[in-house]
Amino acid sequence: MVARGGAAALEERTRDLPTGAGVYLFKDARGKVLYVGKAQNLRSRVRQYVAGGDGRIRIPALMERAVDVDVLVTPTVKDALLLENELIKRHRPRFNVRLRDDKQYLALRLDAREPWPRLREVRRFARDGAEYFGPYTSSIAMKEAVSNLRRVLPLRSCSDGTFRDYARRGRPCIEYEMKRCLAPCCGRVEESVYADLVRGTALFLRGRSDELVGRLRERMQRAAANEDFEEAGRLRDRIGAVERTVERQQIVFDNPIERDVFGLARRGGEVGVQVLHVREGRVVGAEDFPFSEVAQAEGEALASFLVQYYGAAADEGVRRIPREVCTSVAAQDAAALGTWLAERAQARVVLRVPRRGPVRELVDLATRNAELALLRRIEARDSLERTLEELRERCGLAQLPRRIECYDVSTLQGTLAVASRVVFVDGRPDKADYRRYRIRDARAGDDYGCLREVLQRRLARVATEPLPDLLMVDGGRGQLGVVGAALADAGLEVDTLGIAKERDTLSPSARVKRSGGLKAERIFRPGRANPLMLPPNSKALLLLQRVRDESHRFAIEFQREVRSKLNFTSILEELPGIGPGKRRALLRALGSLRAIREADVDTLAAVRGVSRRDAERIHGFFDAMAASPEDVRSPPAADAAAPGSAQAGDAQEGGN
Ligand code: SF4
Repeated sequence: MVARGGAAALEERTRDLPTGAGVYLFKDARGKVLYVGKAQNLRSRVRQYVAGGDGRIRIPALMERAVDVDVLVTPTVKDALLLENELIKRHRPRFNVRLRDDKQYLALRLDAREPWPRLREVRRFARDGAEYFGPYTSSIAMKEAVSNLRRVLPLRSCSDGTFRDYARRGRPCIEYEMKRCLAPCCGRVEESVYADLVRGTALFLRGRSDELVGRLRERMQRAAANEDFEEAGRLRDRIGAVERTVERQQIVFDNPIERDVFGLARRGGEVGVQVLHVREGRVVGAEDFPFSEVAQAEGEALASFLVQYYGAAADEGVRRIPREVCTSVAAQDAAALGTWLAERAQARVVLRVPRRGPVRELVDLATRNAELALLRRIEARDSLERTLEELRERCGLAQLPRRIECYDVSTLQGTLAVASRVVFVDGRPDKADYRRYRIRDARAGDDYGCLREVLQRRLARVATEPLPDLLMVDGGRGQLGVVGAALADAGLEVDTLGIAKERDTLSPSARVKRSGGLKAERIFRPGRANPLMLPPNSKALLLLQRVRDESHRFAIEFQREVRSKLNFTSILEELPGIGPGKRRALLRALGSLRAIREADVDTLAAVRGVSRRDAERIHGFFDAMAASPEDVRSPPAADAAAPGSAQAGDAQEGGN
């Protein structure tokens, strides 16, 4: 069901809305979904929003933009909960709590089926029969956990290649001397003993250290009864080491129930959630989640978060749903949420807000941590606001450049042209919106033509991808002229800016005096005859450089990828200025691509139909193929005139 109209008409619309459970979607004038919510009674919930009467802090910002509302009726609140989750994933609404799907997990993988298994650090979970442990909050935390563990259960740490290497040499590496490995590479440990270590490692990482100690104790007693005192002694030492490691972890309480504890903190639209994972009564892991511009009330935000947290991630095997989920505030529609959790876990799951006792203390700890992380984030954001404000003022921009898009073209000796687009939102890269372009129509050596093509392709999508606050290019006046012309052709307006390093005209001493020896950056803006020079320590300049460098890095990465995929025939086709006739002559005379690649200029020029200039070009091309793309971009030239003027074709700003 769809209700449509302007912002003023929203109130009118609420009268016709159904009173049952369902999901509602507020949309802006372009039809973009701003916010998705669920309700037991759709009409009364949407009315609350429109009247602005339920005290949510971000509602004015949401309602300023909302002009439409769609509603979808569901049979139950639980269905609404799930549908809301799906729609949040699909539309990524600005005013919702939204778990980023590009979050990289840090985890440990252990595959007991491998010969001499080892722990591997991974960033993705897969359903491949191996066991995964984590997620870990940082690579440091993960490495520390592995290092502690290997003192107790010394699985090998080497790669398979190193393992084979030491096996060939017949002597173990230093890890063996340090008693951090039993040297399976040289057959110094029996398979059954090693397999025990693997099982123990899995138990320990699952948080079941008590079970591990119990098993070791049983085996120690058996070994002692069989008068295998050496083995019994080894097991006793291992038990001691496990217990000492566990003692170092914080003991929360005796109840060994699996539990996740959620603390939520809020300041205006900023929300932070911290999760503590409690296994066997000990905190074994923590995760932090920051959200901005949240329009939901706390209980609503928490419910939405929990569905996303245990939804997709549990499907990927990343998270197990524990037996108890404790939260600092009551999740909205807790009964429906609890039922859903239990269905997914296929076991009883308690969802509760502890009021007192050690679990409450743990919830308070999670909340305090969430609060601290939130304050740190707000501080960093305030500093970012000042940077964006500085950028706007110094460059005379019309908008605060919250969203910046930057384009860069990369070529290899005038061939294999590609381009990149990077996007920074609030000073941070938004990698989901990065784009790579293979130039289709423009000639590879024509930097302006390539840029024009990319911008035309970008601007043609403006209906689905609104313009940024600032459109930036790696380059000077010439490139900026191309941007201006493309925008004018499309009938669009937006702040634009070019950034390029100064040319080599200063003496080294003058440069040291002016910018500490570094090349200064020139900032080009439309309508300004001279480029702006921001102070080298200006945060606004640092942000622009970061965006430009990221764009350059991304273009080069793509360039390399394209190059690595070139096959024999396509490499020949990329030879600059060499048509099919000359290609055939070269192949006939020299026999192979390899011979062409290795030939010097004289040999190439000796081929019939190939001039010395052709030979130099071919030689330069293969030289550049071997070099990194940074070395092969066109060198900076003098300030270029805008395209369309007499000089435009041959004078370009160097991108770097
Ligand atoms: S001792 Fe052998 S198995 Fe152990 S880490 Fe060194 S190379 Fe690998």
